[in-house]
Amino acid sequence: MLAAWLSAPYALTLRELPIPEPAAGEVVVRMRLALTCGTDLKTYRRGHAKLPFGAFGHEGVGEVVAVGEGVTHVHVGQRITWLPTAPCGECSPCQRGRYNLCRHLFDAVVLGTYAEYLKINARVARVHLFPLDGLSDVRGAFLEPLACVLHAWRMLEPLPGKRVCILGTGAMGYLHLMEAVARRCAVVIVGRRPERLQLARDLGAHETVQIADNTDAWITRLQTLTDGGADVVIEATGAKTMWELAPALAAPGGKVLFYSGLAKDEIVCVSAERWHYDELTLLGSFHFTTQDALAALKRLRHQHRFPVERLISDTRPLREIVQVFEQLERGVGIKYAIVP
Ligand SMILES: [Zn+2]
Ligand SMILES: [Zn+2]
Repeated sequence: MLAAWLSAPYALTLRELPIPEPAAGEVVVRMRLALTCGTDLKTYRRGHAKLPFGAFGHEGVGEVVAVGEGVTHVHVGQRITWLPTAPCGECSPCQRGRYNLCRHLFDAVVLGTYAEYLKINARVARVHLFPLDGLSDVRGAFLEPLACVLHAWRMLEPLPGKRVCILGTGAMGYLHLMEAVARRCAVVIVGRRPERLQLARDLGAHETVQIADNTDAWITRLQTLTDGGADVVIEATGAKTMWELAPALAAPGGKVLFYSGLAKDEIVCVSAERWHYDELTLLGSFHFTTQDALAALKRLRHQHRFPVERLISDTRPLREIVQVFEQLERGVGIKYAIVP
């Protein structure tokens, strides 16, 4: 079979590999569609703190072609999606119900969706396979990114108000926007490119603010639009400067969600005065749990409120995966659907 292989930063190639066979508890799918993700782009650029090089891609949908001994909850011919990880259930975070913080999440991660076939390991197959039941391939493949976003929103609740500021117009920024709009929040979205800001308005953002280098005028405008600060600020750019700026954009008593991850060992500075005297809540959020995935599936069945198809820039064949990542590297496109 044809499969993408990332052996080091920027060293992405296509290889011929044997079609995997399932051992006990495992499931093999023929890939129908995979989605590119900001996490993949980060891995492509600099490697990933938690993910190994090698088989590449983690979002997708496939059709079951073989199941290992003991697998009875899915059957050959079924269209399914899955999450790339599952908690071990035994470590101390798992024992406390903090499944997204499981110490062993990445011991058994399902990678390699940019391929013709994919093997889903027994730990993931046991708890994180989801039949699509009428959901389209594209919508089904949004399970993992939307589950991450909904996990973050669970941490934001209860919302102190309805003014939400989203920093970033990547796929994650837009998914946060869809959730915010579904919750009837007033959203200001901040980005650089006019066409991305237009898409944000099309998706329901009330206001957009364009970042301009070498001037703080956009920050003043944002503060005016939010009447001195937003109740919730969501950082979804992955840039250190925006992490450090985010608390300054929150209203007294507001919440700041650091959604995007920075590079390993990065340190950020935050105003202690604002944090303490304005009672800001600074939150990190990471990954997802089964509960978040089920909530995501429910939303994906609402075509109308979650028009995730709008985030697909193009559909490209697997044999063009290298060119697709070269385009993402240049900032061309939000998310690509890759089909074998
Ligand atoms: Zn992803
Ligand atoms: Zn665990």
